[in-house]
Amino acid sequence: MVAKFVVDLDKPLVSQVGYLGEAYDEWVHQPIVTKEGPRFFANDMMEFLTRTRWWVIPLVWLPVVCWLVSISMQRGLIPVHAAFASVFGIFIWSLMEYSLHRFLFHMKTQSYWTNTFHYLLHGCHHKHPMDALRLVFPPAGAAIICVPLWSLIRLFSTPTVAPALFGGLLLGYVMYDCTHYYLHHGKPSTRIPKKLKVTFFN
Ligand SMILES: [Zn+2]
Ligand SMILES: [Zn+2]
Repeated sequence: MVAKFVVDLDKPLVSQVGYLGEAYDEWVHQPIVTKEGPRFFANDMMEFLTRTRWWVIPLVWLPVVCWLVSISMQRGLIPVHAAFASVFGIFIWSLMEYSLHRFLFHMKTQSYWTNTFHYLLHGCHHKHPMDALRLVFPPAGAAIICVPLWSLIRLFSTPTVAPALFGGLLLGYVMYDCTHYYLHHGKPSTRIPKKLKVTFFN
């Protein structure tokens, strides 16, 4: 019998989780509910890039949203249509988020690299749900994902509408990430956020 691999929580985690193999799925769903986050990488620069404060998300992306919508308007889109395009973008984001969560974030993995990829993408949030610095998505990672996404939006819309549509999608993402953060770390006192917290936790 092969000896069972045990993750050493005092050492950088990312290079270890792959060795869990089939046991990864069970391990990642046994949450450690402390506010202190684990170390991900031995390399300081890599480690720094995995930690993001929640307010960085609106700070980085809201100006981009405004810039994109303004491009559409410069190209002749009237404000009402720009607003419609943005709302449609938010709708596309919601569909995307749902599918990503349903099919990619919760897939069962067991090989070294798929375990590692899953852990970085979403598994870490299930393992350490209260790690405040690993909850929202790092802007560097999001920027990379923006490239193919923009090409796709560009393919299915006109040069005038595409920027506002993409801006709306980004706005949807910012609202989602901030709400998600609030649901974990905010202290809702009214009924609606409390209900949201129960429904959308994780
Ligand atoms: Zn969550
Ligand atoms: Zn999840």
